[in-house]
Amino acid sequence: MGEWKDEEWGFSTQAIRVGHHRTSEGEHGEPIFPTSSFVFRSAAEAAARFSGDEPGNIYSRFTNPTVRNFEERLAALEGGACCVATASGMSAIMATCTGLLQTGDHIISSHSVFGSTTMLFNKYLTRFGIETSFVDLNDLQAWEAAMRPQTKLMFLETPSNPLTDVADITALSELAHAHDCLLVVDNCFCTPALQQPLKLGADIVIHSATKYLDGQGRCVGGAVVGNQELVGDAVFGVLRTTGPTMSPFNAWVFLKGLETLELRMYAHSRNAQIVAEWLEQQPQVERVYFPGLVSHPQHAMAMKQQRAAGSILSFDVKGGQPAAWMVIDATRVLSITANLGDTKTTITHPATTTHGRLTPEERVQAGIGQGLVRIAVGLENVEDIKNDLARGLDSL
Ligand SMILES: *Cc1c(COP(=O)(O)O)cnc(C)c1O
Repeated sequence: MGEWKDEEWGFSTQAIRVGHHRTSEGEHGEPIFPTSSFVFRSAAEAAARFSGDEPGNIYSRFTNPTVRNFEERLAALEGGACCVATASGMSAIMATCTGLLQTGDHIISSHSVFGSTTMLFNKYLTRFGIETSFVDLNDLQAWEAAMRPQTKLMFLETPSNPLTDVADITALSELAHAHDCLLVVDNCFCTPALQQPLKLGADIVIHSATKYLDGQGRCVGGAVVGNQELVGDAVFGVLRTTGPTMSPFNAWVFLKGLETLELRMYAHSRNAQIVAEWLEQQPQVERVYFPGLVSHPQHAMAMKQQRAAGSILSFDVKGGQPAAWMVIDATRVLSITANLGDTKTTITHPATTTHGRLTPEERVQAGIGQGLVRIAVGLENVEDIKNDLARGLDSL
């Protein structure tokens, strides 16, 4: 990382400057290297690269300058020593589990994690003799009670989706380390612009770069950030061998996305705050879930742990599913999609989409009501977002 990584730099300076090692062409913008392989000046140099005696490019499954540019930049922003970019957020989680776990190991995960993450733990890792216990994100005693001698990894997202529960990362990392276990935080919703889990004690940060790191809904990608031993060696080793690699084109989109990340995350949070406060005043709305609201049960902790509240919010409309669907169907600006992390505001009905595969009992336990609507607030004019929601609410 050399001359470009300077701890004195502020967040956006690092986001704009870190990781570009200018070539002899003197380019100002970061170049894309669309090449599968690299050539060596001699057989001896090839041998030294392959043996690891000499750093340098070999083959783009595991060494590409554009991908490395993104990795160095994101590592700096998260405050981690190493970053490994992956083809998707799910392959980041998969590579982390494959790199750090073996048969007989045990995971404790928050109940409220991305659906495919739950699926990976329950359907696939179990085949290799790795078991997962699920606990409530906020119930520190439940995490502790679930601890076994074989527990190697604790996994969570905060704020949670869709109800925006907030975990105490510091307390959970202390619990993890007291039991010789690693804390992995999926930092997709906050990004390092709003929350830096490694600085709060977490061992590994996971990203779906698909969301806010890109920020404009263009590419699928992911990343793992942490120290040399866990990420630089163990996770990188899995990537090198098994190959769920980020393409140089996607890496370029993501690294350009990082340049505006801080700006965008504050703008997302500002819009979401305005929409959340407005929703709380609407008579058709029963309850609003958003960490930026004083009414949020963990508002104080969220504001201490995060630099802003983020852009995900949910609300219960009176009248259950028919009412929720009416609000969704009345929108003309918002996009009806379960995706998030885009300049475009998205709206979805969790009970019948993202959480549709849960049994009714599981849904009740998770607090996902039939009247619940989730919004990922984008960067449109906030009056237009409010007016779009008002159209549906007024028709109830
Ligand atoms: C989308 C998402 C993932 C999975 O990422 P992909 O890039 O879709 O593979 C993981 N965690 C969270 C919180 C997500 O929102």
